[in-house]
Amino acid sequence: NIAALNVCAVEIVAGGGARVLPLAGGLDDALFEHDGQITKREVRALTLSALAPRKGELLWDIGAGSGSIAIEWMLADPAMRAIAIEASPERAARIGRNAGRFGVPGLTVVEGQAPEALRGLTRPDVIFIGGGGSDAGVMEAAIAALSSGGRLVANAVTTEMEAVLLAHHARLGGSLIRIDIARAAPVGTMTGWRPAMPVTQWSWVK
Ligand code: SAH
Repeated sequence: NIAALNVCAVEIVAGGGARVLPLAGGLDDALFEHDGQITKREVRALTLSALAPRKGELLWDIGAGSGSIAIEWMLADPAMRAIAIEASPERAARIGRNAGRFGVPGLTVVEGQAPEALRGLTRPDVIFIGGGGSDAGVMEAAIAALSSGGRLVANAVTTEMEAVLLAHHARLGGSLIRIDIARAAPVGTMTGWRPAMPVTQWSWVK
């Protein structure tokens, strides 16, 4: 279990040891319970940087998966607020468990499909779209929910979602980056670069 203390967060490791959680965004994937659908550490660090949390802001994490983005958002400061929206009941339950592990019980989990599940939620300062962005009406609902000056960051792994982001960038501006990560892995007795799937990220201020 991971308990948030006053000074720092400590992970209680089986066997009685303790590991101090780093303060920087982009925590080890293994600290989260997940089923493989998780924004990987390096991409998560860049995503949090783009989301640029400011004290007390409310984040909508649409397609929250394991909840890793919303949880790291919450960890930035005790005043942070976040709503994780996740269509899969199994994953929604997992987000709750992860929030408990990291000591951020204030994270609200909404189980449901965007855009319908977004209706009636408190208006956000910032929105992250990590899933569901190519579903009809999701980008439109997210953009409509933001006030002027609100920030939107969306990641695409599929070409379908990338096409959505390229079209939004062409129409609305903002910034577009492509994140290509490769990890060194064994190749026989030697080592080689194993590329991860590239992520296209669009950031935009309304
Ligand atoms: N950022 C997450 C990973 C997201 S994976 C993390 O770090 O853990 C994408 C997620 O989006 C999946 O869990 C999928 O169930 C969810 N999803 C897809 N379409 C959705 C929709 N329309 N509404 C809500 N969630 C959706």
